Amino acid sequence: MNGVLKIGVLASTNGTDLASLIKFEKEGKLDARIALVLCNKECPAADKGRKAGIEALVVESKGKTREEFDELVAKELEKRGIELIVLIGYMRLLSTPFVRKYANKIINIHPSLLPDFPGMDLDVHSAVIKNGRKTSGCTLHFVDEGTDTGPIIIQKTVEVANDETPESLKKKIQPLEAIALLEGINAFSQGKIRVEGRKVLLSDANTSAVLLDGRKLSEKCLEESRKKLEKILVKEKPPVLQVILVGDDAASKVYVKMKKKACEKTGIAANIHHLGGNTSEKELIELVEEFNSDEKTTGLMIQLPLPKHIDTRRVLEKIRLEKDVDGLNPANLAKKFEKPGFVPATAKAVMRLIEETGVVLEGKNAAVMGRSVEVGVPVRELLVKKKCVVTTVHSKTENPKLATGSADILVVAIGRPNLVDASFVKSGAVVIDVGINKLDGKLVGDVDFNSVEKKAGFITPVPGGVGPMTISMLVENVVEAYENSLQNGLKA
Ligand code: NAP
Repeated sequence: MNGVLKIGVLASTNGTDLASLIKFEKEGKLDARIALVLCNKECPAADKGRKAGIEALVVESKGKTREEFDELVAKELEKRGIELIVLIGYMRLLSTPFVRKYANKIINIHPSLLPDFPGMDLDVHSAVIKNGRKTSGCTLHFVDEGTDTGPIIIQKTVEVANDETPESLKKKIQPLEAIALLEGINAFSQGKIRVEGRKVLLSDANTSAVLLDGRKLSEKCLEESRKKLEKILVKEKPPVLQVILVGDDAASKVYVKMKKKACEKTGIAANIHHLGGNTSEKELIELVEEFNSDEKTTGLMIQLPLPKHIDTRRVLEKIRLEKDVDGLNPANLAKKFEKPGFVPATAKAVMRLIEETGVVLEGKNAAVMGRSVEVGVPVRELLVKKKCVVTTVHSKTENPKLATGSADILVVAIGRPNLVDASFVKSGAVVIDVGINKLDGKLVGDVDFNSVEKKAGFITPVPGGVGPMTISMLVENVVEAYENSLQNGLKA
């Protein structure tokens, strides 16, 4: 994908709205490219496409069942990498497999305030007038089972005058159809549309990104973990998390307390082992090994960073994979988090937040700023697993904006306060800020929130984004480790 949303228009008639879209594209107002006009018969819409230099294709429908025809259409769309299907005066009912295949990727513009009066053109306007409606308008909606049904994206209304005729009403509504299409396609392209059941959540395409509320999502995840644990709990053998903290890093002390609190809320006992800053590597490893073989210990984590005289990697390597609930044993990363390993909590938090956006990841460009073994590298691996095209940006990258500026997904984990401003970001991108920095006594991320929220499609705040989610993902891993230990009868 070259970063511009590719749309395919399915049309059978005049294509008046298609002409408006072509004009918007020429004027640079359309945040997408009309890559194909596909018709089921020769019609003015196909001509309008050809005249504008757009590929216009006629797929013959004679003698084919609805499913067979739609299968051919789907093949043509796939060949051209179409990401959004726009129905403009398309006089065919879509088959169920086609609609399911392109769930929330087919939009239709209808000349009434659906669901009131489905039907076509002047008939709809006649029905509005006959029923004495004071208002009418147009509806842009996703298509589900029927052409005129599906979650509504945008509706525009007009007043119906006392002496209104179907023709005069059509004249009033037509320009609004084109605007609704433009706004809807742009919002889709910028990732600002989210569908929740029948509801479409649309953030204002010109003002701010959808905020990914890590606190709220974290509460939900914790509640899910609590319920899961309640179901599987063996009272004589409750889950226990051992948290090791070495030294007196102020932020680390706060984090371990938060982790303990979240565990206890879920029904997990958490013990904090606070060791002095001069603890030796050997002593630390001895404690790790003690917990590795302790039957009562479900999970074990070491709060980072460790004091400089301790080799972090050597200590993490000693954590038994079945108990490595923070997922930071290097062997786990090497095995790409295959069982018995766990996905590192922060990377898992990043992925869960991205999942919340509903953005399809397969084939998308992603950039990860930062290549630490704890955050950047696992996030990269997980995005690759989701079939993203991933670029890693680090401190030596010559032109970071080259990668970040075309990224549909941007994850920033560099520990540089507010460094990433809007000039790094592709319009409508999903931006996940992992950074936690202190600046003038305040907590800030690596992303300059005020600048980026005006351009991104989705953004996490700091605080209140990845931080709380990391904690609930750790808890989720402990519950999983507990479940595994019950199933496998893990022995010392
Ligand atoms: P780290 O180990 O210090 O790694 C920083 C990475 O950023 C390195 O790969 C570095 O590149 C890269 N980098 C530094 N400056 C850069 C720049 N100007 N442009 C591009 N890349 C740059 O840090 P970390 O442990 O990954 O943590 C990163 C941030 O996330 C920190 O603010 C940390 O506090 C935060 N964090 C948050 C959570 C959470 O739960 N929310 C968890 C862990 C960490 P080189 O490799 O070339 O040096």
